[in-house]
Amino acid sequence: MNYDVVIIGAGIIGASSALWVQQDRKRVLLLDGRSPGSATSYGNACTIATYGCVPINSPSIYKRLPSLLFSKDSPLRIDWWYAISHLPWQLAFLRNCSASRMNEISAKLAALLELTDAGMDPLVQRSSAQKCFAEQRGIYYVFSSAKGYDAARKETELRRRYGTSVVEFSSFEFREMEPNIRIPIHRALLFEGARFLRDPRKLVEQYVDQFTKDGGTFKQSCVSRVSPDPESVSVHLEDGTPISCRKLIVAGGAWSKGVVGSGAEDLPLDTERGYHILFKSYGDLVERPVAWVEGGFYTTPMDQGLRLAGTVELAGLKEKHNKDRIGYLTRSAHKLFGDIGQPDDTWLGFRSTFPDALPVIGVSHKSNNILFAFGHQHVGLTLGGATGKIIADLVEGREPPIDLRPYSPARFL
Ligand SMILES: Cc1cc2nc3c(=O)[nH]c(=O)nc-3n(C[C@H](O)[C@H](O)[C@H](O)COP(=O)(O)OP(=O)(O)OC[C@H]3O[C@@H](n4cnc5c(N)ncnc54)[C@H](O)[C@@H]3O)c2cc1C
Repeated sequence: MNYDVVIIGAGIIGASSALWVQQDRKRVLLLDGRSPGSATSYGNACTIATYGCVPINSPSIYKRLPSLLFSKDSPLRIDWWYAISHLPWQLAFLRNCSASRMNEISAKLAALLELTDAGMDPLVQRSSAQKCFAEQRGIYYVFSSAKGYDAARKETELRRRYGTSVVEFSSFEFREMEPNIRIPIHRALLFEGARFLRDPRKLVEQYVDQFTKDGGTFKQSCVSRVSPDPESVSVHLEDGTPISCRKLIVAGGAWSKGVVGSGAEDLPLDTERGYHILFKSYGDLVERPVAWVEGGFYTTPMDQGLRLAGTVELAGLKEKHNKDRIGYLTRSAHKLFGDIGQPDDTWLGFRSTFPDALPVIGVSHKSNNILFAFGHQHVGLTLGGATGKIIADLVEGREPPIDLRPYSPARFL
């Protein structure tokens, strides 16, 4: 079968790319080994984090490292064996934690985040997915200590510099708005206008439904290998179906290196694992997403209930679901809301992350016919539409709205 464009990965990045590319009258095939939106794009914290320009690479990490590494109640866990066997990635990550690198990375993330609405809104409208979003707007960050609040001052400044409207509240004022939260609150920040989803998986499903209604093809199948030649790319599916396309887009999230032959395997992509727990009967405990900054997670009201999502675990793609991480989130839920029992559901997800916290959006060194769109770390749900729109520009040979050099795979080669 011949297609103009084949996209590997039906998460938010691949599904958004499919809709945007299709708009240019292309014959598009979207491939995924799983059902659409069922991987990382399913279990996240649901925030359209237009304020998310601050990478986790920051100088404050050095000060916080001992407590992050050795406290039982830490939002960070490192599998030491994994870390040592992937030392170059960890060292590159740490090299990106200087103040100057944080500022540079923030500027580059902010440039992408500025494209959020222009990339996402037309897709939401086209797929009639407005109902996937909450009606209310605004997302909170709460700090339970003066130390935590002070440590984040520089980051808050960066968010403001890049256009986020941030309103500060005292503990008393915050409790008037979110009375069910019981932890001590030093200060709260509201990112005014930030949107959030009631069901991120449904958003991706509606995108893919619209894509197929408009003539696109979705096939549930895993790609094992691709082989480019000067005019096209051959895509090898696990089931043996031969496929060829003019342009291939790799949007496989944390698994993108598995698309052997694309060049993705040469990039320093790793994963920041994150978890969520869900309490079905407590969806009304908060009005809006509340991130407990010291805790390293959000608590988000959803159609399915109350989700606590976040934390970072460096342990690769293979290690199993870690019960201690679920224990940490459950204990934290009890600190925040009192005894709300055991979670009804638990989940482990895989953020795709480069050591400089920037995604790769651009042409592969293996072939001009292969494009990369992965590595969106903590803000992929937010950046799906923007990335898809840029990818459509690259496929068509149009000038993208921003300079793409900072996101080029060439920065690692
Ligand atoms: C706990 C947690 C909280 C988060 N909260 C937020 C948030 O609030 N806001 C935000 O913006 N972001 C958030 N994120 C990040 C966000 O979820 C991700 O950046 C985003 O979902 C990545 O989308 P994706 O399409 O790249 O990847 P995925 O959704 O993981 O999709 C990749 C798809 O590619 C498929 N695939 C891979 N390789 C192949 C292959 N060889 N053949 C066929 N199919 C393949 C996979 O099966 C998968 O379905 C969070 C992440 C986590 C873990």
